[in-house]
Amino acid sequence: MSKDYYEILSVSRNASQSEIKKAYRKMAMKYHPDRNPDDKEAEEMFKSCTEAYEVLSDEKKRQIYDTYGYDGLKNSGYRGPGNADDIFSSFGDIFSDLFGFGGGSRASVRRDGPIPGNDLRYDVEITFMEAVHGVSKEVQLTRRDTCWTCEGTGNRPGFQKQTCPTCNGRGQVVRSQGFFQMSSTCPQCHGEGAMVTNPCNDCHGTGLVEKTKKVVLKIPAGVDTGARMRLRGEGEGGRRGGPSGDLYVVVHVQEHEFFKREGDTVYCRFPLSMVQAALGTTVEVPTVHGKKSLDIPVGSQSGTLFTLRNEGIFNLRGRGRGDMVVELQVMTPTNLCEEQKKVLREFDTLCTKHGQDQENEGFFKRLFNEVMGKN
Ligand SMILES: [Zn+2]
Ligand SMILES: [Zn+2]
Repeated sequence: MSKDYYEILSVSRNASQSEIKKAYRKMAMKYHPDRNPDDKEAEEMFKSCTEAYEVLSDEKKRQIYDTYGYDGLKNSGYRGPGNADDIFSSFGDIFSDLFGFGGGSRASVRRDGPIPGNDLRYDVEITFMEAVHGVSKEVQLTRRDTCWTCEGTGNRPGFQKQTCPTCNGRGQVVRSQGFFQMSSTCPQCHGEGAMVTNPCNDCHGTGLVEKTKKVVLKIPAGVDTGARMRLRGEGEGGRRGGPSGDLYVVVHVQEHEFFKREGDTVYCRFPLSMVQAALGTTVEVPTVHGKKSLDIPVGSQSGTLFTLRNEGIFNLRGRGRGDMVVELQVMTPTNLCEEQKKVLREFDTLCTKHGQDQENEGFFKRLFNEVMGKN
């Protein structure tokens, strides 16, 4: 079977959500099993356009599909819409509210199917160094989990749901307005057609209870702000036998006072005295992996960049470590004592005598003439 979801729905690759919904609505109306009883071909078409809609209407799934194709989607844990009853349970709202389907005894059966838990998001802040070296963090998560007393059904053990008296199990109520009959979702059972009349004591009929759980987040070395990790099944609990949702962990990395990063490359400024820069020296510079010695050549200028190979951050795509770039910052001495000032003046006199300031003088003369419009 073709797995080009765009082709199945006959929409362009950059179709908007409303175009996708419209296209799906058209197809679903045509191939809906209620309209095509015992037509296997129509049922297959209905299933594949539903699958296409399920993927393309979910921005997260659509992005995975656009980037990695159907196989990527499968690897990300997507198992397809399953059998026809699953389709009806997950699309119940669309069918009843938008399509005008639903109603009848069949609807109440479909609507009673498993409900998967919601995906959850957890934001975690880590230090710059934790991001560089990786870290395991144990966090306490409070979320709604399946109530195991009632197995997520909401019924007190031994009791069943009762048919909703307001809609007689149809899930829809019909109101007359002038000549028209308007059908809408039943307000009492919210379209389910059945109600919990003997609620479970632990979850009060919701099928979910708040639970706190310790989760270990294993954050790999090299992550940066915005990195997302998926912990399958650690989201909100499912109901009526539905699977748990997933937990998406979004990483935020704190700034470092000394290091900056851009991808795998680490940048830092290293201050050096005027005298050291002039005479050349060997210094110890801090890197994210410890101290490394760096040779500063004679006469180094402020702003000179030195690259320390493989002293940067571990690449998440397995390209080894990035580099570290050190920018030299030559410091002009301050708070000089009289003796130091005297030596510097003598030094200046020596510079003039050796003609060492001529280069600068020439530069300023040219600049001055340019500004004044002279040659
Ligand atoms: Zn009802
Ligand atoms: Zn319960």
